Amino acid sequence: MGTSIGFIGIGIMGRHMARNLARAGHEVAVHDVRPEALGGMAGPGLRVAASVADAVRDADVAITMLPDTPQAQDVLLGPGGVLEAGTRGGLVIEMSTISASATRDMAARLAGRGIAMLDAPVSGGPAGAEGASLSIMVGGEAEPFARALPVLQAMGRTIVHVGASGAGQTVKMCNQLVCAINLMGVCEALALGREAGLDLGKLREVLMGGAAGSWMMQNLAPRMVARDPAAGFRIDLKLKDLRLVNEAAFEMGVPLPATALATQLYLEARAHGEGSNGNQALYRVYDRLSNQEG
Ligand code: NAD
Repeated sequence: MGTSIGFIGIGIMGRHMARNLARAGHEVAVHDVRPEALGGMAGPGLRVAASVADAVRDADVAITMLPDTPQAQDVLLGPGGVLEAGTRGGLVIEMSTISASATRDMAARLAGRGIAMLDAPVSGGPAGAEGASLSIMVGGEAEPFARALPVLQAMGRTIVHVGASGAGQTVKMCNQLVCAINLMGVCEALALGREAGLDLGKLREVLMGGAAGSWMMQNLAPRMVARDPAAGFRIDLKLKDLRLVNEAAFEMGVPLPATALATQLYLEARAHGEGSNGNQALYRVYDRLSNQEG
C-alpha cells in the first residue's frame, strides 16, 4: 500500500514532484499559500488540503518544497505548521534549497517533538522534477533515510545519503558553486572567442570533446551562442543559492574567492534587469564589460 504524504509548496518543482508521488501509488495531500497554485492539482491520488495542518496531520511523511529558509521555518515551526500540528508518521523531508545551519536548528526543534527531519535538496530543475529523475542529496539519520527512500525514489533517480543533518544542503551548495563558477568560465571562453572572430559553434563543439567539456558547456553555451537569455534557471534563483553559499562560507570561515567573484557578476546581471532571465544571461555581463552589447 502507498504512503500517505502531505506536500507543501506546489510551485514550479513541487507540482511535478507531487504528481509523480501520486503516480507511484502514494496518497498525496497538497497545500500552497497561493490558491491559484492548487488549481488543477486534485486528481487520482491527489487531494487539495485547506491548510498545512490539514495536509500533514495524518500523513506518514510531510514534504516541503518552498522558496527559501524563512518559508521553510514558517511552515515547519510557525503557527499552524508541522511542529504545532504534528504529523502521524513523525517524518519530515525538507526538499527546498535553504540554509544548512537553519536546517540543523529546525531538525533539532522537530526532534524534540519526536519528528525526524531529513534535508533533501534536489538538482535537475523542472525537467528533472517532471521526469522523476532528480538528483537528491540527503542529510539526516540512517533510519529515517531508509523509511524515506521509497518516497524519494518516486521523484528522483540519483539518491545519496550524504551525511548528518544539514549535509544535504551543504552538498547542494557545493553543486551550486561549481555550476556558477563553471558558467563563468564558459562565458569567458565565448567572450574571448567572439572578440577573436571565431565561429562560436565550432569553438563549443571542440571544447566539449576535451577536458573543458561540462554540463554548462553542453546545455547553456548553445543558448549563449544564439544570444538567447530567456528563462531556464533564473538569475534571481541562482543569486539566492549563492547567498546561501556565501553565508555558509562566512559561518565556517572558509574563503571562496571564485564564488565571491561569480556572485558579483550575477549581481551585475540583476542590476541590469536580468533577474528573470536564465542564468546563461551571464554572457550579457561579459558583453557589457567589453562593450559588445547588441
Ligand atoms: P517556486 O517559488 O515555484 O515554488 C515554491 C512554492 O512554495 C510557491 O508555490 C509558493 O507559493 C509556495 N509557498 C511559499 N511560502 C509558502 C507557505 N508559507 N506555505 C505554503 N506554500 C508556500 O519555487 P521552485 O522553483 O518550485 O523551487 C522550490 C525550491 O527548490 C527552492 O528552494 C529552489 O531553490 C529549489 N530548486 C529549484 C529548482 C528550479 O529549477 N526551479 C531546481 C533545484 C532546486
